Amino acid sequence: MSAPTYDLGTLHGGLRLTGHKEESTSSAILEVPIPSQLILPIAQHVGDPAQPLVGIGERVLKGQLIADSGGSLGAPIHASSSGKVLAIEPWPTSRRLGASAPCIVIECDGKDEAVLPADAVVDFTALAPDDLLRKILQGGIVGLGGAAFPTAQKLMQARTCEIDHLLLNGVECEPYISCDDMLMRENAGEIISGAQILMHALQISACFIAVESDKPEAIRALGDVLGEIQDSRIVLKKVPTIYPSGGEDQLVQLITNREVPSGGLPTDVGCLVQNVGTAAAIHDWIIGNTPLISRVTTVTGDGVANPINVRARIGTTIGDIIKIAGGYTDRAERLIIGGPMTGKAVSTDRVPLVKATNCVLVLSETLSPGPELPCIRCGDCASVCPVQLLPQQLFWYACADDEVKLREFGLTDCIECGCCDLVCPSHIPLTADFRVAKGRIRELADEKARAARARLRFEARNHRLEREKIDREAELALQKASVKKSGPSAIAEILERKRRQNEEDQ
Ligand code: SF4
Ligand code: SF4
Repeated sequence: MSAPTYDLGTLHGGLRLTGHKEESTSSAILEVPIPSQLILPIAQHVGDPAQPLVGIGERVLKGQLIADSGGSLGAPIHASSSGKVLAIEPWPTSRRLGASAPCIVIECDGKDEAVLPADAVVDFTALAPDDLLRKILQGGIVGLGGAAFPTAQKLMQARTCEIDHLLLNGVECEPYISCDDMLMRENAGEIISGAQILMHALQISACFIAVESDKPEAIRALGDVLGEIQDSRIVLKKVPTIYPSGGEDQLVQLITNREVPSGGLPTDVGCLVQNVGTAAAIHDWIIGNTPLISRVTTVTGDGVANPINVRARIGTTIGDIIKIAGGYTDRAERLIIGGPMTGKAVSTDRVPLVKATNCVLVLSETLSPGPELPCIRCGDCASVCPVQLLPQQLFWYACADDEVKLREFGLTDCIECGCCDLVCPSHIPLTADFRVAKGRIRELADEKARAARARLRFEARNHRLEREKIDREAELALQKASVKKSGPSAIAEILERKRRQNEEDQ
């Protein structure tokens, strides 16, 4: 086993939280059987929704491409099992309080018949990096840590920068979530194979795999594989268990001591961060010819009878997954998709598991922090903020709707970790306020962009109308001149106006 190393940078702020991970890590990952129906949202990634390629009534096979990426930040969607397309219709999803979104509904036939696999890539190092990126794009792979950013596009962007390090993120710092821990324990070989594929795609030769120090089984499993394959390019790094050390920018700081600039990306400082689950999904697709049609997710909380990690097909409803975990307990009150700090509450378990679903959390108590009181300027929120923001100041500007000051004080760098909420003695829902304020800033930016595009269209139209008017006048004058044979100077004048107009157009 190769020993993990410890020379780390520092993380500002953060909190040591009770993990609640033991409950779901005492047994192996359980396979969820094929459900009767699969609900596949066509937007499971940031960017535009994918476009359905199948019709109602059509039979589909496991692994078949059923919706292709619509925009530049899209990712294709594949059928997770064989069956018949029942409908393409709105369905509750975990996007915003169970808000409906268009989904392809497949009635499974239980046969699980797969499309004929394409030829396996025997030696990925024989592929040119661009060909490898194109192939990754076809696998429908997105960031499985929760961000759902299409992986191929992230790699393409990284290739335009000077990247020297790949960081595999196995730091699962949010309480209750343990799917990456279990994946590292059980599929360490696939994760490391994915790292090697990613390094080839990026044409780099240095990778750190970051794991928290309280995950000895995962560290042992990864270390054993590294010891076997003797790939000195990959180094295991143990990091302290502090929330939110798994945030991309925070991880870069911890592992490389490089600071991602405000408004920037890890690629600005030579790093690309990928979740360990994403690396395993890349292995499954490139080496195993299986696109992203299933994932490991944690089902936990005191509202679930037998907390556990499961591998479920994308599109399985949360209700079907909870049944596998023994169903609800009498105390189940709140259903959250994701962790307690960053997850979203939903009102129904009919929502489907999507590529980004890393946790299904059912809790008994409704956390009521107490009545909101005025800010007492204690500064506790600032001392725990991992981005070194001044939450109390941001709160003030958010209440005043002061977009300029919010930007100036770095609201757009807020990672919505929720640390400031947890320590605030006045129970101010700071993160929720920041989320709303960030949404408003985005809307304003969109509005400004739309207005700028409309102005450009308006100016172009006026310009075209003016040019057409001059052309018409020129034609008319030419006609008159030829009739009267008396207008060479008038024609010359008109031609000169046209020439000037053409020059302006250029
Ligand atoms: S939610 Fe934002 S402001 Fe609050 S601690 Fe986290 S990063 Fe800082
Ligand atoms: S922790 Fe709460 S009370 Fe203290 S400064 Fe921040 S917002 Fe104000």
